[in-house]
Amino acid sequence: MLFRTSRLCLVLVVVTAPCWAYFEPHTHDACFCQLSGRIDECTCNIDTVDHFNNVKVYPRLRSLLLKDYFRFFKANLKRECPFWHDDSKCAMRYCHVQACGDGDVPVGIKGTAKLKKEEKEEDTCGGSDKELDYLNKTISAKMKKDLVMWTKYDDANDNFCVVDENDEDAEYVDLLLNPERFTGYKGSSANRIWNSIYLENCFRPKSYYSLYIPSSKLNSMCLEERVYYRAISGLHTSINIHLCANYLLSHSNGLSLTDPKGEWGPSLVEFERRFSPETTNGEGPNWLRNLYFIYLLELRALAKAAPYLEQETFYTGNEAEDFDTQMAVKDLLNIAKQFPNHFDETTMFTGSAQAARLKHEFKEHFLNVTRIMDCVGCDKCKLWGKLQTKGLGTALKILFSQKFNQKKLFQLQREEIVALFNAFGRLSTSIYKLDNFREMLEH
Ligand SMILES: Cc1cc2nc3c(=O)[nH]c(=O)nc-3n(C[C@H](O)[C@H](O)[C@H](O)COP(=O)(O)OP(=O)(O)OC[C@H]3O[C@@H](n4cnc5c(N)ncnc54)[C@H](O)[C@@H]3O)c2cc1C
Repeated sequence: MLFRTSRLCLVLVVVTAPCWAYFEPHTHDACFCQLSGRIDECTCNIDTVDHFNNVKVYPRLRSLLLKDYFRFFKANLKRECPFWHDDSKCAMRYCHVQACGDGDVPVGIKGTAKLKKEEKEEDTCGGSDKELDYLNKTISAKMKKDLVMWTKYDDANDNFCVVDENDEDAEYVDLLLNPERFTGYKGSSANRIWNSIYLENCFRPKSYYSLYIPSSKLNSMCLEERVYYRAISGLHTSINIHLCANYLLSHSNGLSLTDPKGEWGPSLVEFERRFSPETTNGEGPNWLRNLYFIYLLELRALAKAAPYLEQETFYTGNEAEDFDTQMAVKDLLNIAKQFPNHFDETTMFTGSAQAARLKHEFKEHFLNVTRIMDCVGCDKCKLWGKLQTKGLGTALKILFSQKFNQKKLFQLQREEIVALFNAFGRLSTSIYKLDNFREMLEH
């Protein structure tokens, strides 16, 4: 029933005219009528993912992400933009982020971070290092020091994100108290961020300079370049779906963006403006498809990392809650593992020296995207931008890190795990919210 429009449309597409023409005067159905069939670069269909996500994944993630382990995220929102001088200090009330007070964060979470920091300091001084102890118990002190350095170099080489949480200025934020939603952030500052991401830190077809890459041009790029672009575009789609699904509805009733009162809910008008083919040169439905692509990419990372994540304690200091969290994570990972048509990362970066160069560029581009997050001129957008890029970066690390198969050498920090699950939660929610918009359009 829910997919009636898209199926009907799929049949009509085969006839001749653009499918949205058949839905006059309900032209808004166009956002969905092209959203069917196979997901690009993958072997499964949009409606398979809709069903899998909305019935199995979304309800589980919804309750999992309420747990203390996942609700506190540590980030530095004060770091200066490294690329340009940004003096657009955000005055909009809805951009404000409330950082946690001293007593708000469970001691177990702060404790593990402290412990990790102390371990790190010990490492730097050539003190005990479990990883290296495992490698060789008989090596000399000098050799051990060199190994610590090389391991650090390797870790940095393995990461797709800049590390934030060890900075002095990093603070814990309660994600439940600072939800991602419409903030009013737009104009030159927001444009500059997206421009810099797409034009300077993305792969592009030769001599093509418009911001987005039309789907017709994508095939002139190689698989890895397409994957990169689709992941960024899918992330952009997800951010914009969230602001449409949690739009400031009372704005039109005279409330301004600096007014403390506000009422949020879905705005169909905003959704259609952003995704219908008429207002996006026909690209809106492709941008929606890219959301499904990044969802499958992160789902695959979760399934691949399941053996590692199943060993995590998710420690907060509350024994009963930690046990519940472990069980809920295992349950979700079982669902993720059972999905039959995972994205196949083994086809990427194979073979020649050119593949190694491509992988290096892929990583460098993405590292820059995580740095650009420091230039976002709205703290709320910056927080969620950092969390989602870190989550995607963690997924890429799981999929492409050479260390992944060397069990004892692969490590994820708490903040990476929190980002990975929350980022996937954002994508899952976006797909779920699409169904709400689809229903709204049908009534
Ligand atoms: C990191 C980040 C986080 C943000 N978080 C929030 C938030 O939480 N709440 C909030 O209200 N606003 C947020 N914004 C702002 C929001 O994303 C838009 O930039 C803003 O609403 C202005 O929208 P726009 O219509 O100018 O188009 P934009 O979304 O700014 O897009 C610019 C151009 O990119 C192209 N484009 C659009 N979507 C895609 C896509 N999926 N794939 C490829 N190309 C595309 C189109 O040509 C479009 O004109 C965030 C921005 C950034 C950079």
